Amino acid sequence: MSQVHPLPKAPAADEAPPVLQSCDATVRSIDSTTCALCGSQLSARALRYHMVSPQSCDARLTVCHVCRKAALGEGYRPAE
Ligand SMILES: [Zn+2]
Repeated sequence: MSQVHPLPKAPAADEAPPVLQSCDATVRSIDSTTCALCGSQLSARALRYHMVSPQSCDARLTVCHVCRKAALGEGYRPAE
């Protein structure tokens, strides 16, 4: 009767690209010196607020004072 022929694998499809990333971006995300919403730089003296996402209680964002107002209007709550 009929036989099922498995499709040949696409060449080079299983070769994952290198996951090397710039360590500079990692350091910045840990330091949290940029607004998570508008991306503006938050210097040491700049006002910064920690907000909690309405979707995930674990996700904390550091935002500037401008985005804080917008975030509050969208359901974000201030983190402690
Ligand atoms: Zn902002």
